[in-house]
Amino acid sequence: MSEKVIEVQDLVKVYKDVTAVDKISFDVYQGEIFSLVGPNGAGKTTTVEILECLRNPTEGDAKVLGFDVRKDEKEIKKRIGVMPQEFNAFERLTVKENVELIAKIYGVKPDIENILRELGVWEAKNRQFHKLSGGMQRRVGICMALASDPELLFLDEPTTGLDPQARKETWEVIRTLKKMGKTVFLTSHYMEEVERLCDRAGVMVKGKLIATDKIRNLISKYGGGIKVSVEGRNIEKAEKMLKSFTEKVLHEKNTVIGKFKTREEASKALAQLYQLSDGYKIEITEGGMDDVFSQLTGGRVDDRGELI
Ligand code: ATP
Repeated sequence: MSEKVIEVQDLVKVYKDVTAVDKISFDVYQGEIFSLVGPNGAGKTTTVEILECLRNPTEGDAKVLGFDVRKDEKEIKKRIGVMPQEFNAFERLTVKENVELIAKIYGVKPDIENILRELGVWEAKNRQFHKLSGGMQRRVGICMALASDPELLFLDEPTTGLDPQARKETWEVIRTLKKMGKTVFLTSHYMEEVERLCDRAGVMVKGKLIATDKIRNLISKYGGGIKVSVEGRNIEKAEKMLKSFTEKVLHEKNTVIGKFKTREEASKALAQLYQLSDGYKIEITEGGMDDVFSQLTGGRVDDRGELI
């Protein structure tokens, strides 16, 4: 395992009568894309803002890049890049001017052309911020977060409100950050986003962190396994074959469904099924982060981030 860049131990944040963060512990490793995922009000932003030294914790400990969030605010702020939720920039300034401004504030001289090129906004460098699409604005926000050449970036809900295409393009930008060697900490309420983009995630609900692990481990533990569904005539043959690989076989009319714990188990059965063939229609469905979330919490998160 690589080096820990964030270490959180029994972190608590209480606002008057609300416990926004309720004794959570997790680590983030160098070079990974990590996400806190959960519905609105789960405590994600509060956690991020404590790590960015914008809020004080009520109890517990948190270290960022080896520095204590209570004592080493200056050291931490020098080394991180931040794109807040509902981020904004100077509307009338151009893309390049906005990034230059951040560099000036930090007193640094980054290679702005390189940043804008890497993140695909060089062509738009002379356009005013307010004239850009939502997706391009987020890219500029990420460029601004990169201006101080941080080791670690915090992106709070980086794709909320974007259309599906712009969301996918933003994922590409975030993958570029990882290729540049940065560690990315993001928050999200989109399960698909976390599944497609992140290396590890912590599932957060009502201030509590329910599970933290690699995405593939979360899915294999809580995703409900892999379903192989076979439809056709002479289905009994397929049923018998599936039963030789798994005890979990359901038969409904002309369809049989076999459930498998792992991909390896499913692929052994599939290899035999394809040999039998007999004109079967075969469908494979694998559990995802949506299933993980509902298995862990009994609920789902809708597109707006509400728990349903
Ligand atoms: P969202 O995406 O809606 O911001 P979140 O998971 O980031 O959700 P937080 O914003 O951290 O959650 O909020 C967690 C809880 O703390 C919520 O109940 C929220 O109303 C409450 N809260 C957040 N900030 C404050 C504050 N400054 N004062 C009082 N309560 C707050």
